[in-house]
Amino acid sequence: KTTLFWFRRDLRLEDNTGLYYALQQEKNVLPLFIFDRNILDKLEEKADARVDFIHAQLADIKSSLEKKGSSLLVRHGTPQEVFEELAGEYELHAVYTNRDYEPYAKERDERVEKLLKKKEVLFLSFKDQVIFEPGEILNGSGECYKVFTPFSKTWLENFEKRKIQELGCPNWKNLKSSKALTMPSLEELGFRKSDIPIPSKATDEALIRHYDETRDFPAQQGTSRLGIHLRFGTVSVRKLALLAAPLNGTFLNQLIWREFYMAILAYYPQVVDQAFKPEYDRIPWRNDEKEFRAWCEGKTGFPIVDAGMRELNETGYMHNRVRMITASFLTKFLLIDWRWGEAYFAQKLLDYDLAANNGSWQWAAGTGTDAQPYFRIFNPESQTKKFDPDLAYIKRWIPELGTNKYPKPMVDYKFARQRALDTYKNALGK
Ligand code: FAD
Repeated sequence: KTTLFWFRRDLRLEDNTGLYYALQQEKNVLPLFIFDRNILDKLEEKADARVDFIHAQLADIKSSLEKKGSSLLVRHGTPQEVFEELAGEYELHAVYTNRDYEPYAKERDERVEKLLKKKEVLFLSFKDQVIFEPGEILNGSGECYKVFTPFSKTWLENFEKRKIQELGCPNWKNLKSSKALTMPSLEELGFRKSDIPIPSKATDEALIRHYDETRDFPAQQGTSRLGIHLRFGTVSVRKLALLAAPLNGTFLNQLIWREFYMAILAYYPQVVDQAFKPEYDRIPWRNDEKEFRAWCEGKTGFPIVDAGMRELNETGYMHNRVRMITASFLTKFLLIDWRWGEAYFAQKLLDYDLAANNGSWQWAAGTGTDAQPYFRIFNPESQTKKFDPDLAYIKRWIPELGTNKYPKPMVDYKFARQRALDTYKNALGK
């Protein structure tokens, strides 16, 4: 009988919980990846760097498994179709996998588990993509924290108490022996290679050690750029957290934000399309399409905003400080619905993650979990003075700055600020 290990957002062989336990507890373990049509069919960009990245990671994993005398099954379809097919091709004993907490993923897993149960195939899932999963960090009344600071305190207490460890070497002898299997090409999946480079997954200890001094300056390489690797599990979060904890608390804190937003999404899945604070859905967004396009293209006439959007469009990355500025600009200055900005980032970011993106957009729009009031509005000019004082970042992305090719500011700062304050105040009645 064959046991499958189903890879999803955990694309690595080392310190992979579900794979480790499959190899520990079962014989004839064959790893599997499904290019899920439910996800891929929604992607408009056919040279999507993330699909290209996943494809390349799988090719690496497959070749490592083939060196061990096994291989990787790679299929294209909906998970239900694929498991129906596989149950016909193999005599299945169990399917092992790592848990995923997004609404679609939870629903998908429930459906697959049901289908397998009917065929008397076990379905076992493990915690892997987080240190603490939704439900593990709760307040004194057993509820999900709605505010970050107490969540992070409890998270840290638990991190110290429970001895988090990396897993040892997997029991490779329990892999199923197999000839090399074929894998669909990117083109067969309906995609093309992307020319966007992927940041390295190497962890730079010196960078992490100085993270709190460098992380706010977009002209510097002062953050890890590990977002895409955490998203797809090409880096183990346990390994990273264990490395970072003694080096820099601010960096570790960012990993806690990641888990905080995952918990919020799991407990309050309505945030996907509703404000976390429901009264904020009363805001009458202006939603001017022309203004939205200018923002997307980096042509607002506000250099720090335009630099960020151009960085995003060209590289699939935007520095966190600039993400906050561009998101605040869209929602507060232009009064465009945060859902529009969120969707644009989702299309472009290499590190796109529903929980983090949604949580951060709602934070920027003031509609989210943040205890701070809506009248915190980023001023692009003073943000620039503080975080890009010699304009090194801005000039990198806007070579025409200072010439008449660069657009004039699309709105007057004072006017837009007042309009935002009035609109929020009227909608909220406070
Ligand atoms: P580092 O600063 O080196 O941080 C290390 C890791 O910690 C990140 O890779 C990420 O996994 C995690 N992290 C850091 N900050 C946050 C945060 N505020 N919330 C959650 N996790 C965090 N992050 C995403 O991973 N995916 C998104 O889709 C995303 N969308 C965002 C949208 C907006 C409007 C804003 C303001 C922030 C968004 N972030 C998102 C959070 C943050 O900007 C990125 O995680 C970070 O910039 C990625 O760069 P890095 O890998 O160099 O991060």
